Amino acid sequence: MASHIFGPVPSRRLGLSLGIDLVPFKTCTLDCIYCELGKTASPVNQRAEYVTFAELEQEINSFFAADSAARKIDYITLSGSGEPTLNTALPQVIEQLRRLTKTPIALLTNGTLFSDPAVRREVLDLDLILPSLDVVSEELFHTLNRPAAGLSSHQIISGLKALRREYSGQIWLEILLCQGINDNEEEIERLVQAAAAIRPDRVQLNTVVRPGALAQAQAVTQDFLKELRPRFGAGAEIIAPFKQSRQNDSAIEKTTETILATLKRRPCTAEDLKNALGLKPVEVVKILDLLLDKGEIKSLEHSGERYFQTND
Ligand code: SF4
Repeated sequence: MASHIFGPVPSRRLGLSLGIDLVPFKTCTLDCIYCELGKTASPVNQRAEYVTFAELEQEINSFFAADSAARKIDYITLSGSGEPTLNTALPQVIEQLRRLTKTPIALLTNGTLFSDPAVRREVLDLDLILPSLDVVSEELFHTLNRPAAGLSSHQIISGLKALRREYSGQIWLEILLCQGINDNEEEIERLVQAAAAIRPDRVQLNTVVRPGALAQAQAVTQDFLKELRPRFGAGAEIIAPFKQSRQNDSAIEKTTETILATLKRRPCTAEDLKNALGLKPVEVVKILDLLLDKGEIKSLEHSGERYFQTND
């Protein structure tokens, strides 16, 4: 049986995060060109019990019954390898976690399903919701986020505004900018207006960390993000690289060392590392990001594949 609990993994935004993956790999409403997990074969917007509550409950109960539950974690994050709100078992999972732990619970979401009042009701008990919004114009939404049929950015923004009215917890809205796509002045001004209307507690500006599904997903500069930040209001920030954030979990250090040792022997793709070390794709991605931020590895493209190797 696949494990749907992973980590804790180092997270730029949440410190040490224990992940709960509510959907099978790349079950998502979007197919973002910058997705670090690769391509979504077929974006969907139909909710279903993609992983059954019975399966998730068993794993959650075993995790909290074991010694590993005593490890220090900052957040339990409903996230993983696709869009977690697609799973109709979401409210049962939240209830079960509340019964077992006092650790704050966060939801990492692309925000596409909040136009559905039922989805908004299901998340009211969370401590923190981290939705993303990269574009306002419908044309760019299709270029950058490549949605499932029937989704529109207008509908997503309305859903996020409704969520803000109904939900009293923290909302941290992520805006990811890609060079040459959503970094033009007209789109930035539309994003500034949309963020002001949504009224999140924080706006978090981000850019591509490493190439995703397509080579055209290129980063904007940190200077550009710094210039933009004040336009998004007092609560706006730039997501800090890992070197500025805390990361002191012995299990993460061990996995990081194993990945480094593997890359010292030969360059590998993220897929190679996942298969060789038996890790979840999202765990590999997080640790590779951390090592890239620290300058300990570099990435190179070879025959259309992205390889990682140590810098020495
Ligand atoms: S970045 Fe997130 S929302 Fe976009 S395709 Fe990947 S998993 Fe889905």
